[in-house]
Amino acid sequence: MDSTQYIIGAIAGDVIGSCYEWHNVKTTDFTLFSGHSRFTDDSVLTFATMDYLLNNKSIAETYHKYGNDYPHAGYGGKFKGWLHSDDLKPFNSWGNGSAMRVSPVGWAFNTLEEVLEQAKASAEVTHNHPEGIKGAQAVASSVFLARTGKTKGEIKQYVIEKFGYDLDRKINDIRIHYEFDVSCQGSVPEAIIAFLESTDYENAIRLAISLGGDSDTIGCITGGIAETFYKNVPDNIVENVLALLPPNFVKLLEEFSMKYKDNLIK
Ligand SMILES: [Mg+2]
Repeated sequence: MDSTQYIIGAIAGDVIGSCYEWHNVKTTDFTLFSGHSRFTDDSVLTFATMDYLLNNKSIAETYHKYGNDYPHAGYGGKFKGWLHSDDLKPFNSWGNGSAMRVSPVGWAFNTLEEVLEQAKASAEVTHNHPEGIKGAQAVASSVFLARTGKTKGEIKQYVIEKFGYDLDRKINDIRIHYEFDVSCQGSVPEAIIAFLESTDYENAIRLAISLGGDSDTIGCITGGIAETFYKNVPDNIVENVLALLPPNFVKLLEEFSMKYKDNLIK
């Protein structure tokens, strides 16, 4: 498949950020890929979302299966507990896990109303706290609006009005005091600001990771939005990321991309 056809922006953000989650860099000047680059929980669960959307599977069971198939991908403590449970009850989380896995929803539905509803459905099987649902909806709707040709100004205005996030801050100011924060409310707005300030896909990822904090998740969220706005992920990034994915994920990615890449309004 041609590298421009992959829907891989969120996955690439996670892989690039994977080296920096525990070794934060407070600069945009860092190596994109190293021998330590790997896909983490953010990618695993984004693939789970692609799978249940493509194959009409149960949302909760699909997240549960992927989490258990890749148990060492870096999940939060409560999510790990959920992976070990049998009853699959949501645990009222406001963690950014709901936001990191949701970008495929912004590709797969054709109205804003459906995207909001499906983002909620994706979140609430685990992250049924209002902030957990809001984080997922903010990311999925940003992906949808960028995919359907809205300007950065329009996306920013929508997110401020609908979700009440403060997007009138600058990355250079946030970076100074920003620390590890796994809440939706403490990382989704920052990830969206990285996209809004960026000049292209790679720059968006660099700005996101330069914040420090939960770098792979912020990279994943920013990357999913930036990809739809800038239309593609650069070839060299796509090739490096594909080389780090197991064949079953590449196959799923190809199926998802073939079905939905044409939804991108050029
Ligand atoms: Mg991670």
